Order: sequence, then C-alpha cells, then structure tokens
Amino acid sequence: MSNIGIVGAGLSGLAVANYLKNAIVFESESRPGGLLKTETVEGYTFDTGGSHIIFSRDDCILSEMLAVIGNYVEHRRRTFIFYNNRFIKYPFENGISMLPAEERFQILKDFVENLVREKDEPKNLLEWFYYVFGREITNRYLKPYNEKIWRRDLEEISLEWVGGRIPNPPVDDILRSAVGIETEGYTHQLRFFYPLKGGIETLAKNLAEKVDVRAEEGVRKIEADGRICVETDKGQYEFDKLVYTAPLTYLPELMDCREIEKEIESLDYNSLTVVGLGVKDKVPNFHWLYFPQSNIIFHRVAFLSNYSPYMAPDGCSAIIAEISRKPGERIRNVCDRVIDDLGEVGFEFNVEVCEAWGWEHAYVVYNHQYKGAVERIREYLKARNIIPFGRFGGWKYLNMDAVMTQAKAVANEIVGL
Ligand SMILES: Cc1cc2nc3c(=O)[nH]c(=O)nc-3n(C[C@H](O)[C@H](O)[C@H](O)COP(=O)(O)OP(=O)(O)OC[C@H]3O[C@@H](n4cnc5c(N)ncnc54)[C@H](O)[C@@H]3O)c2cc1C
Repeated sequence: MSNIGIVGAGLSGLAVANYLKNAIVFESESRPGGLLKTETVEGYTFDTGGSHIIFSRDDCILSEMLAVIGNYVEHRRRTFIFYNNRFIKYPFENGISMLPAEERFQILKDFVENLVREKDEPKNLLEWFYYVFGREITNRYLKPYNEKIWRRDLEEISLEWVGGRIPNPPVDDILRSAVGIETEGYTHQLRFFYPLKGGIETLAKNLAEKVDVRAEEGVRKIEADGRICVETDKGQYEFDKLVYTAPLTYLPELMDCREIEKEIESLDYNSLTVVGLGVKDKVPNFHWLYFPQSNIIFHRVAFLSNYSPYMAPDGCSAIIAEISRKPGERIRNVCDRVIDDLGEVGFEFNVEVCEAWGWEHAYVVYNHQYKGAVERIREYLKARNIIPFGRFGGWKYLNMDAVMTQAKAVANEIVGL
C-alpha cells in the first residue's frame, strides 16, 4: 500500500488513520481532537468546542463510536427553546402544543394556508423556511434563531445547506402539535449517548491511541508535483497521497494554489466562543436550551453535568454557553455577559469557575458560491493526490457520525477498494 500522510488530528484525520492503520497524522496543536476537546478546571469538566452528543441514524456507525468510547451514558433528549419567557419543546414545530390556544391557532391557520397556496420555488434559506414552514413559525423562531447562529441575512445562505439537513417537518406533527397533542421531532437524535468520563474528547483520545499522531508538528508547506513533499514544524516527509483535514482557507499559506485562489476566498464560515461555567448549584433537568433572542448573547446553553455526573463535583454543575461569531469579531467581557444573560432568562447561579475558549472555524456557511467553489477546490486537490476531507478540509457541515462514515469511504478510496 502507498504511504499516506494526514494533515490534522481532529476526528476526521483520526478516523481515516484508524481505517488505514499505517498513516502518519500531523497535528499543529499540543494534543489531538480538534473540536473534540475537553478541559477540566477546578473539578469542572467542559467540552470546549461546544456541546457534542453522539447519535446516528446508522446503527453500525453508532455502535462503532460507542465501542471506541467504552463506557457511556444513554439519554432521552430533554431540550427546549426559550420563547416568550417560557421554555417550549424543541424543535419549535413540536413545541407548538405548549403555546396558548390563540397562538396555536394563528400558527395552524398560516401553516395550512401556506400548504395550499401556490408558491415560487425557494432560492435561499429564508424563502425555504417560508415555503416549508409558513410565515408564523419562520418569523417566531426559525428566522431569529438562524440569523443568530449564521450571523448573516438568511437570503445569503444557499439551499445547499438545507439538503437533507433540516428535515421537512411532518405535516402530521405540526397539526397535532397545533391542536395541543404532544409530539417528538428530530427523532434520530431523541436518544443520544455521551462518554461516562472525560467528556467528548474521550472519543478522539481513544482513536488517537491506535494511530501514529505527531502532535505539535503542524504542516507548514506542501508541494504536490508528482510525489507529495510535506514540511512540518519538525521535519520533511514524502508521501504518495495526503489527506487534508485542516481548513481549506489555510491552503494559500501552505501551497501554491493560485489557480483556486478565488474559490478559496469565496469560502465563508463562522467562529465560535464557548464559555464554561462551574456552578455550586443543581441545574434544571435539561440537556440543552436554544435562545433565539437577539439581546441574549448565547444561542445555546448546555448543562453538561446532566450528560454525565462526572462533569462536575457532587452537588455542583458544569454548563457551557455557545456564541456564534463572524470571523474576526471580538466579544468583550464575554464571561460577565453570559452570567448576566443567564440571569436575564431566569437562571441565577452561584458561579465558581468561568472560562472562555475561542474557535476560529466552527460552522461552514453555505453561501451562494459554495457549490461551485468547493467542487473546483476538491478537483484541483484530488488531481494532485491530495484528498480534502472533514468539516473544514472538505468544507461541509459534518457531524461526527458522518465523519466516521465518510472516513471509511476515504480510506477505501485510498487503498483502491
Ligand atoms: C458547536 C459544535 C457542536 C457540534 N455538535 C456535534 C454533536 O452534537 N454531534 C456530532 O456528531 N457532531 C457535532 N459537531 C461536529 C463535530 O465537531 C465535527 O464533525 C468534527 O469535530 C469535525 O472534525 P474535523 O477533524 O473534520 O475538524 P477539526 O476538529 O476542526 O480538526 C481539524 C484539525 O486540523 C488541525 N490543523 C489545522 N491546521 C493544521 C496544520 N497546518 N497542520 C496540522 N494540523 C492542522 C487542527 O488543529 C485540528 O485539530 C459539532 C460541531 C460544532 C462546531
């Protein structure tokens, strides 16, 4: 078999390496994991890359991930949206049953009228929301929440994003919910799993143990004329093929890629700040909560000690708040603002620890240039025996189970199966 190098030891690099067995994985950070990082501060354990749960529609991949983490806890999702000063069930369309009758009626009337109305085909995310959910559900929740997480006008987001990712709501569910019958949505995620100990990094850590990871050895330069020459922080290597899982936006610094410069420039993404709070209180019995309000700094808050009791000392709790940012956007006094806004939504905690972590690349933003640009970049790299893969290497909104599934396909492609 040919010799393979992998750039990046996030889940994508680690998963491909596990399927290939004898690849070398270069990682610029001091330890592998990428977004799957967990830190313990004064006894409180936080997933610093945001709330990560394990779920999949594919039972084989799910079993594989659970086998990697070893001991885990299983949950039935308890997730709500903060809406008009109360918590309603997530997703919103399934939470309608918890609203006052007049509001349910308005939503139902609009939804039914929208169903039977003749409509133009949607061309962007906002139009798609109106097309599928109607104006009431869109304006009450989908628009404000999505504007908050994407930090863009929703007309700027293409339908590439929607494809299979935001499921069409079952009409039955909306009708039932609107007449006050309780229903469940996103059922593929209703049951989820989480490592018993060590937070989500356990998945990355256990995968990394079985492969050759060179931490603190970032890739600085790639030459790809025939064989691939890689210069790292510590040495030089030659490979037949290279799997590239670092962000595509780093490529111009690493290799001569003038031919695809324009496409790389058109790639858009969002950054993330995660604030971890260690509190000397028991928190409510939620897993995570969504906040669509523009005056509240975070879009999501997760109660990690409800995922596993090992995330905080006895009687205490670990919480994370996630804040989506445009690249380059800075947030001042983020810890204070998170604590203040938790108070604003009714959570007064006895805070013992508060720490913030920043991530440059967190969400791929599917703009209208997305499809053409990413296809062209992929073709260009593949012609040079570089396989782009992963959330930012492949520039695709991948969850962990999709990473595992696609890593297998990448490994098979490399060994020629
Ligand atoms: C807020 C948030 C919540 C999420 N929640 C879930 C969830 O609940 N369930 C789920 O299934 N998925 C979830 N995901 C998705 C999950 O995080 C990703 O699928 C996965 O972590 C992607 O891994 P990756 O290896 O592709 O990317 P990354 O984790 O970004 O890894 C890329 C790696 O490349 C390294 N690197 C960069 N430059 C270089 C260089 N020059 N040389 C060497 N190394 C380099 C980086 O240091 C990094 O380690 C979530 C993602 C986010 C952002």
